[in-house]
Amino acid sequence: MAIYSHSKLSTFEQCRLRYKYRHIDKIKVIETTIEAFLGKTVHNTLEWLYIQVKQNKLPTIDELINYYSNNWTENYKDSIKIVKQNFTTKDYFNKGIKFIIDYYFKHKPFNDNTLEVEKKIIIDLNKDGKYKIQGYIDRLVHDLEKDQLEIHDYKTANSLPTKEKIEKDRQLALYSIAIKELFGNKKIILIWHYLAHNQKIVSQRTNKQLEELKKEITELIDEIESTTKFPPNKTILCNWCEYKSICPLFAHQRKLCEFQNKNNLNQENSQTKENCNLNNSNQEQEPEIKNNKEEMLDIW
Ligand code: SF4
Repeated sequence: MAIYSHSKLSTFEQCRLRYKYRHIDKIKVIETTIEAFLGKTVHNTLEWLYIQVKQNKLPTIDELINYYSNNWTENYKDSIKIVKQNFTTKDYFNKGIKFIIDYYFKHKPFNDNTLEVEKKIIIDLNKDGKYKIQGYIDRLVHDLEKDQLEIHDYKTANSLPTKEKIEKDRQLALYSIAIKELFGNKKIILIWHYLAHNQKIVSQRTNKQLEELKKEITELIDEIESTTKFPPNKTILCNWCEYKSICPLFAHQRKLCEFQNKNNLNQENSQTKENCNLNNSNQEQEPEIKNNKEEMLDIW
């Protein structure tokens, strides 16, 4: 039986062809976008911070920035795509520095009783192995004063979600099902840290909502497993799709660019050059950066 994740389910909902390329054909792509790279580096840095705190060491802000900077330099590759053409690598690097500094001074000394970081969870929704979901919780906290558990998630996207989007968010709600099973019927709080806004968003789910979610997910998995057609779905998210260079919807654009390149037609025309880079965009919208470990698991 296949194991699913929030990211895998979301890919199916976003574009079935992308889902097929990634999860059925298992076409490997090495490229990543700068948003995903920034998200991963910031996650790594905050993970390291809390590991230090759990070992009774409190890193200084300089040590934390050094960690972020070294992690960035060690892992950065020239093949990383910058989709938004009006930003540079340095802009993204500096963005991450700001996230780290803001978070550090808002939450220092980080003594909220973190139990685990990057906690792997597996949920067997129907207890029959058919509907298994796995994921990673960025940080799990036990608030001793209120005797409640908190599921923390870091977001590096620019925009804040609407209240409605938070109420419907599936990822942390799914994780709370696993945590309930592990820790008994304790109160569970879902917390998103929107780092670009230095803002925390808090929500909860009732048992009834979690039961409805389980039903929704099992139906979605049934749909995935019975699907035989995988049409493309053109949206703004195509600009961040790792398969855009092989997607049939963009074949015409590729042919046009090949012709222009062959005939040196785009040498002086910067607009044409931009259009020929299949991963470029001037759009402001960007995809929500998923938990990178989960994403990698899905791909490989
Ligand atoms: S480029 Fe767009 S339509 Fe094509 S596979 Fe990717 S997400 Fe789907």
